Amino acid sequence: MSFPEINKDDIKSVEEVIRSGRLALGPKNEEFETETAAYIGVNHAIAVSSGTAALHLITKSLGINRNDQVLVPSFTFAASVNAIIFEGAQPVFTDIETDTYNIDPEDAEKKITDKTKAIMVVDVFGHPAEWDAIGRIADRYNLKVIDDSCEAIGAVYKGKKLGRFGDAAAFAFYPNKQMTTGEGGMIVTNNDTVARMCRSLRNQGREEMGSWLEHDYLGYNYRLDEMSAALGVSQLKRLDAMLEKRDSVARMYTEKLNVFDWVTPPVVKPYVRMSWFVYVVTLAEGLDRDEMIRVMETEGIPARGYFAPIHTQKYIRNLLGDLQGTLPVTETIAKRTLALPFHNNMTGEEVELVVDVLRQAVMKFA
Ligand SMILES: *Cc1c(COP(=O)(O)O)cnc(C)c1O
Repeated sequence: MSFPEINKDDIKSVEEVIRSGRLALGPKNEEFETETAAYIGVNHAIAVSSGTAALHLITKSLGINRNDQVLVPSFTFAASVNAIIFEGAQPVFTDIETDTYNIDPEDAEKKITDKTKAIMVVDVFGHPAEWDAIGRIADRYNLKVIDDSCEAIGAVYKGKKLGRFGDAAAFAFYPNKQMTTGEGGMIVTNNDTVARMCRSLRNQGREEMGSWLEHDYLGYNYRLDEMSAALGVSQLKRLDAMLEKRDSVARMYTEKLNVFDWVTPPVVKPYVRMSWFVYVVTLAEGLDRDEMIRVMETEGIPARGYFAPIHTQKYIRNLLGDLQGTLPVTETIAKRTLALPFHNNMTGEEVELVVDVLRQAVMKFA
């Protein structure tokens, strides 16, 4: 489906750390943080053990708690919602826009109550959310803004890199992301207080200058190890080159798919730079997406539905009751989306094969 791109420099960088004997709490974390902060253009970057950990620590550092509601799209990965639930706050699910599938600012505004403390924005599939509209709403209602940019490192909205919007943003480095550290994540922010809290909370609630057995807060072990950080430093150097490659694979797909009326390629707004995480198309209404997936799989092409809305998941039903029917756009779109095989080094022939197998699957049912 998707493969990380590991080269000799990556291997050398990790090997050096292993040979050095310094495997945790070391200079590679600092280097990874400094380089990431410079790449994004923010004051602080805090490396953590996953994107989920990043979202959790941001949520906690912003003081979100059991008295609060947080607006969040359901069309996302579970971690965006879970970070809110971990802190006892209530996720309030928000519908999505019909083109980019990002959070719909108008629907978000309608769902604001006097308990709404924050909005969790997700840059879905690597396409920036509508940050101008979100910023206006956040100002008007005095909301905290968390950017789940775990699918969008390197993306740009109107000339400004993601990671610089909202109070803080999270990136993720699982092997299916645009760059990887194995497991890993990063918090970026210009807020000094949030940065300090996140640094402490990832390290068992220790203060920067405190001793090993002194804990000022209820913290976690969300640290990133040095091997992962070394891989991150090496990968970050190639991030823009890797994003370019992904962009040309996406362009090949879109060019080939544009000629068919039974599929809509991903929408890319003219004022953004996409950071392609996955390549997700939308099938025409009436086509049985799951049947297409089965047919493609028999031809050796892995494809899958993406995302499965969070408000209809079993654990949310157990927690918040039956929410089926409350998010019309999310529910119709999620039945029709299809993630096609996508990685940095896909060739034109491979793209052509996928499109051909998809076309044959669709024709079977036409
Ligand atoms: C990948 C991802 C995360 C974080 O995932 P981890 O596996 O914890 O690194 C969070 N939100 C979204 C939208 C993601 O795609």
